[in-house]
Amino acid sequence: MTDTSSCASYASENRALSASEARARMLAAVAPVAGQEFVPLRSALGRILSAGIVAPHDVPAHDNSAMDGYAIRCESLSATGETRLTVVGSAFAGNAFSGQVGKGQAVRIMTGAVLPAGADTVVVQEVTRVEGDAVYVPAGQKQGQNTRRAGEDLARGAIALPAGKRVGTAELGLIASLGIVEVNVRRRLRVAFFSTGDELASLGQPLAPGQIYDSNRYTLHGLLSRLGAEIIDMGVVPDRPEALEAALGEAAQVADAIITSGGVSVGEADFVRDVLARLGEVNFWKLNIKPGRPMAFGRIGKAWLFGLPGNPVAVMVSYTQFALDALLRLAGLDPLPERPLLTVPAANAIRKQAGRREYLRGRLLAVDGRWQVKTTGNQGSGVLRSMSEANCFVVLPEDCAGVQAGDSVEVQLFEGLL
Ligand code: AMP
Ligand code: MG
Repeated sequence: MTDTSSCASYASENRALSASEARARMLAAVAPVAGQEFVPLRSALGRILSAGIVAPHDVPAHDNSAMDGYAIRCESLSATGETRLTVVGSAFAGNAFSGQVGKGQAVRIMTGAVLPAGADTVVVQEVTRVEGDAVYVPAGQKQGQNTRRAGEDLARGAIALPAGKRVGTAELGLIASLGIVEVNVRRRLRVAFFSTGDELASLGQPLAPGQIYDSNRYTLHGLLSRLGAEIIDMGVVPDRPEALEAALGEAAQVADAIITSGGVSVGEADFVRDVLARLGEVNFWKLNIKPGRPMAFGRIGKAWLFGLPGNPVAVMVSYTQFALDALLRLAGLDPLPERPLLTVPAANAIRKQAGRREYLRGRLLAVDGRWQVKTTGNQGSGVLRSMSEANCFVVLPEDCAGVQAGDSVEVQLFEGLL
């Protein structure tokens, strides 16, 4: 967001943005934060590579056997009948056969053992017959079969993993296969968050009349922990503009991003948008979606602000659909994850009016071997149980005006999202 004049005009804009326009604006505005560090390989799980990893040697380092059997020269074999070969030694993983395999000879070989000099093919032991120091091999073997070539996984000097990639379980193993013990990763994103609302009680306090427990801070703690962020929990901030201004000012000093929940709507105790406009720049604050219509996005100093709605389900929708990918881009992930929508039949009818994009909570289930999706009970934006029972969002586009049982709908899996 370098063009502040356009931000100012966005702020005065009262229009609700479509989901895709809002996403596009957020992703265009944010860029990765600077900073990197070296961490031991195990601690790199979940971190984002700040430099590409180059293979220092071939993986595998040598031609080797993919099976237990006999290493031979393919030219030794008769094209039509069985061939008698003389077994001249053995090769084990980690204990190579040091001689040559000549014509008419074979070496007993185990999976992972270096392919002896002169051999080009491995015959699996199940098809062979052994008599004394001879092995009989049937016709029909293909040159090169059951061998793994040096560098077939990674060639020396190749980019094994590009910068911007997140280290997952496969990457931990892959980096280990290169013998690399320390990994250059981007520094963790610093995310400050707090809840707003005079009705909120923190856990451990008794509930006074009219109070509810602050659940959003726990949901956000979970979501941000999953993100791998360094989290700064700032507690509950009362519904007073001065208190909100102080909290946002403080958060902007220490964090790359600030996430608030509540107080972003148009009620008389909703001050997030106005305080954001006073302290920084508002990019947008209204979305054409349900749940989660109010959501402020903007900037205070160097920190990005994601002002999420107060309703607990709306928090999870607006975080996963909007804030998450912006945070991943800030953290340096490149490319951003693909978030496929799968098309499945709806198990039940869903009421909807055309106009907004809706994110319902659904459960994918297999009926007679075919997947379908059923919405999870009461879909109120305060009903967290609908999230807990679900394994996907049912995403209904703006122009959808209701769903009949059996109609195709699009779903987005929670896997990797929550
Ligand atoms: P608001 O957007 O502040 O008007 O809040 C919308 C609804 O969400 C209200 O019913 C709030 O009580 C509820 N709410 C707001 N913040 C939280 C929170 N941290 N935990 C649980 N519910 C909340
Ligand atoms: Mg409130």
